Amino acid sequence: MIMKTVEQKMWRNWAHTSESRPAKTFYPASITDVCTIVKEAILQNKTIRVVGAGHSFTRLVQTDDWLISLDYLTGIDDLNEDEKTVTVFAGTRLYELGEELGTRGYSQENLGDINVQSVAGAISTGTHGTGIAFGNLSSQVTEIVLVTAMGEVLTISEEENPYLLKACLLSLGTLGIIVKVTFKIVKSPVYEFHSYKLEYRKLEAQLEQLIESNRHFEFYLFPYSELVQIKTMNITEKQPQKASFYHFKNLLLENYLFYLISECCRLLPKTSKFFSRVSAKGVGTSTISAYSYQLFATPRLVRFREIEYCIPLHCLTDALREVRETIEKNEYAVHFPIECRTVKADDIWLSPSYERDSAYIAFHMYKGMPYEQYFYDMEEIMQKYEGRPHWGKMHSVNREQLNKLYPRLQEFLHVRKQLDPDGLFLNPYLTDLFGIEEKETVNL
Ligand SMILES: Cc1cc2nc3c(=O)[nH]c(=O)nc-3n(C[C@H](O)[C@H](O)[C@H](O)COP(=O)(O)OP(=O)(O)OC[C@H]3O[C@@H](n4cnc5c(N)ncnc54)[C@H](O)[C@@H]3O)c2cc1C
Repeated sequence: MIMKTVEQKMWRNWAHTSESRPAKTFYPASITDVCTIVKEAILQNKTIRVVGAGHSFTRLVQTDDWLISLDYLTGIDDLNEDEKTVTVFAGTRLYELGEELGTRGYSQENLGDINVQSVAGAISTGTHGTGIAFGNLSSQVTEIVLVTAMGEVLTISEEENPYLLKACLLSLGTLGIIVKVTFKIVKSPVYEFHSYKLEYRKLEAQLEQLIESNRHFEFYLFPYSELVQIKTMNITEKQPQKASFYHFKNLLLENYLFYLISECCRLLPKTSKFFSRVSAKGVGTSTISAYSYQLFATPRLVRFREIEYCIPLHCLTDALREVRETIEKNEYAVHFPIECRTVKADDIWLSPSYERDSAYIAFHMYKGMPYEQYFYDMEEIMQKYEGRPHWGKMHSVNREQLNKLYPRLQEFLHVRKQLDPDGLFLNPYLTDLFGIEEKETVNL
């Protein structure tokens, strides 16, 4: 394939919360192409941002200069059955990787609830799934190949430079252009997925046990309802079933029907409370056995805005109690359920689950409905519990707060300064977020 370049092409993220018209958008078809673009950008005094699938809600990707998409740099480079690792080109989408691994009898140990992200984009913001025995997707990575701000190829691995790896595993595209990623993989198990509804007070009583005894466990809290939806996934000896009916039902209920409900709520916000309660009551019991890549992710066709915070796991019950009370008291027009997941502690410098077993709590608002007061109040609760925001989701955390929340942030910024002293990979959003002044003074 030959490299493609497009001028002045409009770019917009999935949530329609960020857009720009980069002077040039490049689609390199090889690592050499990526190096050439970087060297040319240095000569022309341009900055570069890289886009994956554009599924981050913040202005991480936004640029008027040069944008690089790795949509032509995809596929498996190597599958090492002895080491149980797979090396993929960084533009590969998670669903492509899942399908390809699936045909060879392997899978990733954990995934989030969608799989359209690029592998580099997913790890660059610390995308996570659920299950207290598992870290986020970045924690599955053993090696990264990066094109640096000098236009050179740098391999960063656990063996060669573990220190640098801890910075690169979650770096928001600020350390260089990731061109290859090596993930640990597992022999693809068959999972039994189970969904059912439960009263909130029963969930509270069983929460610890549900977290500990299920490989993957999450729940959805419906505003103004006493009911929650529980979802679990565990390894089974059962034969895998065809997942097509499960996906069809999902498309119908969680997408098309939910879209109609969401439109009603947008047009008549007062109905949000009613629809949230009806949705909770409508949660049925369902069970299916299938391979993981067919179960982890589901399509998300209804567009929304989202904040998601990572709090210490032991604060989950207290935080949720406050969330429920605040929603009841303030009567926000919100019908989207609140998604709660768990993630194991890791040692990645900018990871929201850095050195603490964590619970992630995600708040959504349908596109077109006012979200400001709801998000503001929920963020206030999350911040009280030392919540660290998901890097790919909306948040209002400033650099002073980040500095307190991330004990290795200064080290990260130091590494960034060494790798990219002229700020080739920065945009105004990032310089503002991290307090990086032009031509480089780290100033937090
Ligand atoms: C509907 C929906 C569902 C979601 N579900 C989940 C979920 O279950 N769990 C979760 O944790 N998150 C979830 N997210 C958030 C999402 O996973 C992250 O925002 C992720 O980063 C998006 O990946 P992307 O490929 O779209 O990257 P983009 O949003 O395009 O980019 C993200 C960052 O990665 C950088 N980047 C991309 N490619 C490269 C590269 N090759 N080299 C260097 N930097 C690069 C970009 O510059 C940017 O800073 C969801 C988002 C949406 C819209």
